[in-house]
Amino acid sequence: MRVLVKGAGVAGLTVAHALAARGAAVTVSDPSCGFSGAASWLAGGMLAPWCERESANEAVLREGQDAPDRWEAMVPGDVKRNGTLVLAPARDQGELKRFAGRTTGYEWLDEQQIATLEPSLAGRFRQALFFPREAHLNPRRVLTKLRDGLIVRGVRFIDILPDEQDFDHIVDCTGAARIAETASLRGVRGEMLYLRTAEVRLERPVRLLHPRIPVYVVPRGDGLFMVGATMIETEFAGPITARSLMELLNAAYALHPAFADAVVVETGAGIRPAFLDNFPRVERRGKLISLNGLYRHGFLLAPAMAAKAADLVFDPDTAGGHAS
Ligand SMILES: Cc1cc2nc3c(=O)[nH]c(=O)nc-3n(C[C@H](O)[C@H](O)[C@H](O)COP(=O)(O)OP(=O)(O)OC[C@H]3O[C@@H](n4cnc5c(N)ncnc54)[C@H](O)[C@@H]3O)c2cc1C
Repeated sequence: MRVLVKGAGVAGLTVAHALAARGAAVTVSDPSCGFSGAASWLAGGMLAPWCERESANEAVLREGQDAPDRWEAMVPGDVKRNGTLVLAPARDQGELKRFAGRTTGYEWLDEQQIATLEPSLAGRFRQALFFPREAHLNPRRVLTKLRDGLIVRGVRFIDILPDEQDFDHIVDCTGAARIAETASLRGVRGEMLYLRTAEVRLERPVRLLHPRIPVYVVPRGDGLFMVGATMIETEFAGPITARSLMELLNAAYALHPAFADAVVVETGAGIRPAFLDNFPRVERRGKLISLNGLYRHGFLLAPAMAAKAADLVFDPDTAGGHAS
């Protein structure tokens, strides 16, 4: 079975992995080498289905719960199962209650328990929600590792579009590039930045609630932190705006004042591809299969969706033409 996977973001690589594991001869084509065109490169890497349930439908929790296990099987040793901490400044305690009312799978923590989990935050917050079953990973590390592992397994990576006639199936995983051709697909812009400081140490993603600008800080190790992310209904893919930069920096500072002296290492903006229900679709039309609409859940849901795409390649009749 010869399969062409178009796009080497998290969708394309997880599909390629699922197909290669089942014995397909896989070629991955992507014009942008080194992940520079992939929203996946900018992601936080949070595997947080219980927190996401605050605004996502139940299917995100159902399909995302075993994401840490699925990632562990693909990139052993890269999944950190330290949970998620959710905080709110004293004036926004109502936000914490609201978040608790819309989610499950958490424990309330007091000031002392917060300090035990994250000593850098000692004395800064009175209450928190802790989601112990959540996990995170470093997207750049796992994407690189996944691609390198696929090359070792014989998957071919090319930066040109080959003749599609040479393949039994084509799996389109080109993300936001499909927006213009897909009426129900839209882009949701996400801006982020990387800060470096030796003054703060965190073991897990920390979400800081705010009525207008909820943000998160994800530790990458060695004093590096990813701060994200805006959610803007636009397909504008240009650099981060001054307003977004200020808001993200303000939130990092509210989490810990030492972030004021951090070095801004990088800023970026990516377009999350999303359908109207913000849930991904795996669809087949003839020999063309598409996986798209991963929205803000690319790392959370791609492994499960990739398995569905592989089912459509190998068992087209039993799997049906639409799986979401
Ligand atoms: C700031 C930010 C933070 C995020 N944080 C998280 C998070 O913490 N957890 C989580 O689960 N998700 C997160 N997401 C969401 C996640 O990043 C996306 O859902 C995911 O990246 C979408 O993956 P994709 O493979 O569909 O698209 P992409 O990663 O954009 O990959 C598409 C690829 O297709 C290629 N391509 C385009 N046109 C063609 C063509 N004609 N032929 C071949 N290839 C082509 C592109 O070059 C690109 O490499 C975040 C997103 C952003 C922007």
